[in-house]
Amino acid sequence: MTTTDTHCPYCSLQCGMRLGAERGGAVQILERPEFPVNRGALCGKGRTAAAVLSPAARLTVPLVRDGRRGRLREASWPEALDRVAQGLRRTAQRHGRDAVGVFGGGGLTNEKAYLLGKFARVVLRTANIDYNGRFCMSSAAAAHKAAFGLDRGLPFPLADIARTGCVILVGGNPAETMPPALRYFRELRENGGRLIVIDPRRTRTAELADLHLRPVPGTDLALALGMLHLVIAEGLVDEEFVSTRTRGFEPATASAMAHWPERVERLTGVSVPAMREAVRMFAQAETGMVLTARGAEQHSKGTDTVGAWINLCLAVGKAGRPGSGYGCLTGQGNGQGGREHGQKADQLPGYRSIEDPAARAHIAEVWGIDPDELPGPGRSAYELLDTAGQDGGIRALLLMGSNPVVSAPRAGHVAERLRELDFLAVSDVVLSETARLADVVLPSAQWAEETGTTTNLEGRVILRQAALTPPQGVRTDLHVLRELAAGLGVDKGFPEDPEEAFEELRRACAGGPADYAGISYQRIRAEDGVFWPCPDEHHPGTPRLFLDRFATPDGRARFAAVSHRPSAEEPDDEYPVYLTTGRVVSQYQSGAQTRRVPELNEAAPGPFVELHPHLAQRLGVTDGELLTVRSRRGRAVAPARVTDAIRPDTVFMPFHWDGAGRANSLTNPALDPVSRMPEFKVCAVSVERAAAS
Ligand code: SF4
Repeated sequence: MTTTDTHCPYCSLQCGMRLGAERGGAVQILERPEFPVNRGALCGKGRTAAAVLSPAARLTVPLVRDGRRGRLREASWPEALDRVAQGLRRTAQRHGRDAVGVFGGGGLTNEKAYLLGKFARVVLRTANIDYNGRFCMSSAAAAHKAAFGLDRGLPFPLADIARTGCVILVGGNPAETMPPALRYFRELRENGGRLIVIDPRRTRTAELADLHLRPVPGTDLALALGMLHLVIAEGLVDEEFVSTRTRGFEPATASAMAHWPERVERLTGVSVPAMREAVRMFAQAETGMVLTARGAEQHSKGTDTVGAWINLCLAVGKAGRPGSGYGCLTGQGNGQGGREHGQKADQLPGYRSIEDPAARAHIAEVWGIDPDELPGPGRSAYELLDTAGQDGGIRALLLMGSNPVVSAPRAGHVAERLRELDFLAVSDVVLSETARLADVVLPSAQWAEETGTTTNLEGRVILRQAALTPPQGVRTDLHVLRELAAGLGVDKGFPEDPEEAFEELRRACAGGPADYAGISYQRIRAEDGVFWPCPDEHHPGTPRLFLDRFATPDGRARFAAVSHRPSAEEPDDEYPVYLTTGRVVSQYQSGAQTRRVPELNEAAPGPFVELHPHLAQRLGVTDGELLTVRSRRGRAVAPARVTDAIRPDTVFMPFHWDGAGRANSLTNPALDPVSRMPEFKVCAVSVERAAAS
């Protein structure tokens, strides 16, 4: 058996693993205890990741559709690529360049994300490129950047969690989303640290907590303001830190003081004594961290919500010091790198703003084009999909590594919009629900079959190394981009070799906020990953940011002046219950890969509706009975799971499935005005027994 060190294809932890390939073709996933992030531990998804490598579980031949309503049939690569080039070219000629859209994914490697952005802007010259990471942690990214001048999910290594004094975890459930990370929270408590979990559900993570606060969905912002009010009222402000390392405390204070704890208790359902206990626990600890995840971020006020939690850190001096800070538990495998390298509508590689003339000039030089040829910012992910097939919107779309028919908000509407496109091309490993709507489907190589870097939630750049040859009939996305560029008249600048692509990415990122200039494949192999920024080859990388100064022009962090506002949709007589959505441990994101793994399907075979016994009793529902859940956007049918782990005013659905139980048929695409994040985490629904509907 030959073994290769690599990383899991799924979540942002990017657990280290060893892939063993036997002569007969069998593949084994082995532990790699020396990789510091997961120290050998893998969750069930990682342990079974080899299942999707089997040709039986995936696409191995391109598919094309004859006519918009024809059936998908097998085709050769030249025919499929030619159809894609023609479809994109024809649309640009008829409707203009911005009528061609590109939609990427937070699971693509850095090299793919970089070249996909370059393809959109240099070959297609469209402004309309965005990616599914917009749906993931864009609110945290916006708030992080506003407060500290730089956004890196965790500005410290994950292991620091075990050594801090107190963690407030808001809207995150690592026990289900990244189980190996849970050891750091356990070690935190073993070391005498305290854990406060804020979540409407009593999750498996919340069960570990010293204190669990269960706010009404959509009220985290009010809760953070109420807690800041108590910090001030109880004299717990770190005056020296605030005066020497921050700006904007007064306006933030004025807003917090308007949020009386009793008012906040009415809004959130969290009692004043519980808030006070949390505040004292956090402020009085020597060191502390606030960590947010999707529960806090996926709201139409997500940026303000994260800003309010950062305010709390700043007020008590828990940022920019060893063992303290704010961080975001990113979701997707390359959610961090995916947003750094130019597949986001408003950004160029190196985390540069697309509106910054100096950044445009630098990238244009690396790409060998005139800065004026670079398009400006385009539509965000949901807005891109929402305009599909419409006048003034996109008419053709190239989609790589994403499955919005399951993962986008108001997913039924999104699927309709995609059907209205003149042309849709999808590159994916499997025939996902979105790929089924395409005119051309390109079967792509996957994690164990191609080398490439990702950047985990800590900002650690790591290397997934190819261990296997892709099945015959499958090509890498880099090959596809090179061939499409050539088909559209650009013969240079799209290397198929990932290391060559990475070398160009390093030059493009040099001097930018996310500086990879000193990171090479060789160093990553030798050092178990390198933390950015790393401006030159002699630089050790930067595991901990902001210790001396924040990345703002004057080195000081910024408070955010924010106020509570209701969610875009609150319960009423017609839709009287809150819906919140999330993940289960045995499925990943849209489930396109994990639903094809027998062990995972057995453990998590389908959607369900979690509801409290009081609500179940009111509805006359018993455990396992089918329920119909309706919102203003659609309906979903799934069995009841009765549990007192959820608030009586709220139901929860996991979002990994298509079909009748698709949770995202219900969710609300109301957007955060800053980050353009949709409001996945709260909307109003009605619930009834399916037999009654
Ligand atoms: Fe893979 Fe995430 Fe599980 Fe680790 S925690 S094995 S990276 S899915």
